[in-house]
Amino acid sequence: PRRLISTFFKASDLQVELNKDPKPKPEAASLSFGKHFTDHMLTVEWGREQGWGQPHIKPFQNLSLHPASSALHYAVEIFEGLKAYRGVDQRVRLFRPLLNMERMSRSAARACLPPFDQRELLECICQLITLDQDWVPNLDNTSLYIRPTFIGTESSLGVARPGHALLFVILSPVGSYFAAGPMGPVELLAEPRYVRAWVGGVGDFKMGGNYAPTILVQDEAMRAGCQQALWLYGDDHQITEVGTMNIFLFWTDEQGDLELVTPPLNGLILPGVTRQSLLDLGRKWGEFKVSERNVTMADLVRGLQEKRVREVFGSGTACVVCPVSHILYQGQGYPIPTMENGPELAMRFLKALMDIQYGRVPSDWVLPV
Ligand code: PMP
Repeated sequence: PRRLISTFFKASDLQVELNKDPKPKPEAASLSFGKHFTDHMLTVEWGREQGWGQPHIKPFQNLSLHPASSALHYAVEIFEGLKAYRGVDQRVRLFRPLLNMERMSRSAARACLPPFDQRELLECICQLITLDQDWVPNLDNTSLYIRPTFIGTESSLGVARPGHALLFVILSPVGSYFAAGPMGPVELLAEPRYVRAWVGGVGDFKMGGNYAPTILVQDEAMRAGCQQALWLYGDDHQITEVGTMNIFLFWTDEQGDLELVTPPLNGLILPGVTRQSLLDLGRKWGEFKVSERNVTMADLVRGLQEKRVREVFGSGTACVVCPVSHILYQGQGYPIPTMENGPELAMRFLKALMDIQYGRVPSDWVLPV
């Protein structure tokens, strides 16, 4: 008879070992991104023979890995990024966390990592946050960043589906993204020599391997006096993403209609939770056209020349929205009038999402922890 292996891990099987030596918490006012970690972490191991083990919450600690682990050699690694927000009523909430769980499942399948029950993982994460809830900062625009991570731990150098894997979750209190006040605009370097993702590739999955090659490009952008890279694709220089954000353009389109446009989920684009939320809000408001379609640099430049462009902004969990004030493209600088136009729409999106995240406006988009 077939040997039965446990299919999915369950939150009700959580084994909790408390940290007897908790750390002092950093000043909420001086938090930089991803530098501090809470007192506990979640780990769950998987093996081809045994299936999933019990989930563990234990003191935050180093991992012990075989030096041949496939995550270290072939980037068998996927991750997620979401936040827990302390509301005006002191309750802690997650924002559309099942979208992150779904995206993590898709990424795992693409990386040949085993399936898990999304709701059970989310429940384990909620219990981890509850245990470390004093680490959720209580200051405007701060939050607790949650980093679910899933790695292949196969101790063999063969490039093959890993027979062992480790899923872990760590938590990091983070400050306001805009250190210099809300809505600081960014300047972008659009360098067509570099491509972040391609048709048939894995740019639409949250794989660690997608990010390592971007660091050098980010460096080059900084050297050119910009803060982020604008990722282009194809001979027609389609606009795809900005840094680690999705991109939105708010303008009067070629037909004379007011339009909010972002590139379609055609395999090149990371399906952002914030992207989806802005599209959902824009469609609910019904005040302008909302499109998922390709826009090229030539389209944008023509829109700028014809003064049809109102706002360009990135979207992501880190900042919600991030206005773009300038694009450096093929040796020429293009000022973008985002700030001159408010930025009215970007600010409205920011307020709408933050009101939900910080519990000022009730919404079924949040999950109380
Ligand atoms: N694009 C890329 C490449 C990203 O890494 C991220 C961050 N996850 C995003 C877009 C924004 O996604 P989200 O809104 O889910 O944070």
